[in-house]
Amino acid sequence: MEQPDWHGPLTEAYEQATRFLTGLPSRPVGSRASLSQLRASLGGPLPAAGVDARAVIAQLASAADPGIVASPSGRFFGFVIGGATPAALAADWLTATWDQNAGLYAAGPAAAVVEEVAGGWLRDLFGLPAHASVGFVTGAQMSHVTALAAARHEVLRRVGWDVETGGLHGAPRITVLAGADRHSTIDRALRFLGIGTAALVPVKVDAEGRLIVDALRETLSSLDGPAIVCAQLGNVNTGAFDPIGEICDVAQTAGAWVHVDGAFGLWAAASPRLRHLVTGVERADSWTTDAHKWLNVPYDSGLVFCAHPAAHRAAMGVRAAYLVHAGGDERDALDYNPEFSRRARGFPVYAALRTLGRDGVSALVDRCCALATRFADRMSGHVLNDVVLNQVLLNLGPHTADIVHRVQAEGTCWVSGTTWQGNPAMRFSVSNFTTDESDIDLAADTILHLTT
Ligand SMILES: *Cc1c(COP(=O)(O)O)cnc(C)c1O
Repeated sequence: MEQPDWHGPLTEAYEQATRFLTGLPSRPVGSRASLSQLRASLGGPLPAAGVDARAVIAQLASAADPGIVASPSGRFFGFVIGGATPAALAADWLTATWDQNAGLYAAGPAAAVVEEVAGGWLRDLFGLPAHASVGFVTGAQMSHVTALAAARHEVLRRVGWDVETGGLHGAPRITVLAGADRHSTIDRALRFLGIGTAALVPVKVDAEGRLIVDALRETLSSLDGPAIVCAQLGNVNTGAFDPIGEICDVAQTAGAWVHVDGAFGLWAAASPRLRHLVTGVERADSWTTDAHKWLNVPYDSGLVFCAHPAAHRAAMGVRAAYLVHAGGDERDALDYNPEFSRRARGFPVYAALRTLGRDGVSALVDRCCALATRFADRMSGHVLNDVVLNQVLLNLGPHTADIVHRVQAEGTCWVSGTTWQGNPAMRFSVSNFTTDESDIDLAADTILHLTT
């Protein structure tokens, strides 16, 4: 076959991408297109005859543009969403270019080694045990599924039940304890795993959403049978940290597995200034975090770590006659991942970590937190939470929910809303590597202006 035209569509994509990226500081942050406009510009029947690839890319970019939310912008403060650093983005392009199926070492040896190396760097950065196993997954959601599958295996194995063969029919009941203000992905993981949300016992939390250890101790003392405790480092609204060291003491004494949801909060471990917030984290049994949030790696990129590699492999591993399984100490990702075929997610993580270095990661985390504090100072009188990390929660009076929509429509910045302790609140998350003081000041001016 004649060489396909690589150059035309890739040049178009490169030009479109650099135009988008360099235009980020000046474009409206929110989407400007309605659903019907997007359906009109992107829709229509599948054409019978194909169209030139470069033209397709150019048309796609121009039709999609009004419906693109500039979430990689330094003035996007909604949810908890990071941007993409140049190195991570470039490595992501190469990931797509190489198109490795990174399930097996045999199908992508470099991808496997990069995950091994980046996994080691991350363990080190977070201060997790050197023997912990790692998986590069799509996000914190699938990280929970993976970690809690390993937990399910291990707590049932300890009472003589093999869940991989026997399933949960007739198995001893597992109890899952988690703070009442846990992230919804914990409940969803329990649904996926057949443990069910009825197995969840919510533990009382304080005003910042932190699990109260005495309440946990009391609940655990009235339980017998297999138990899993889910702790949270970085409440999605307040940024607050559960006292993980004390939770490990209480839960592990009772024989429970401790899983940590540190989707963004675990990155505090990488900062000498903030490390105290996660004291004792290394004693947990499994950990979840994201690279697509605070490390500013493109979607989708999450991480799972497990202090019990045999449980991790027992829950995830798979064998088939037609596959070429690792025979030595090389690493097959499919033994640690819920996917079978999978994207080589390690490349962008590796590139992000290498360009930042240990100091760069810590500076990124510290800078976002300092900017969140600057914002909270500008908004004083409206702040609902103790700003310990990168999250600020605001009450702007009875019209808070409307003000969130007005800010989104105005376009200077983008914030999202929530309900906090029964009242509507505005959430402001500083997670982007390009955000600076002027972005914060502009956002504060805009929000205050739209409030009055
Ligand atoms: C974002 C978040 C999640 C879910 O992460 P995904 O990467 O979107 O799956 C889970 N827990 C917490 C605390 C989060 O902030």
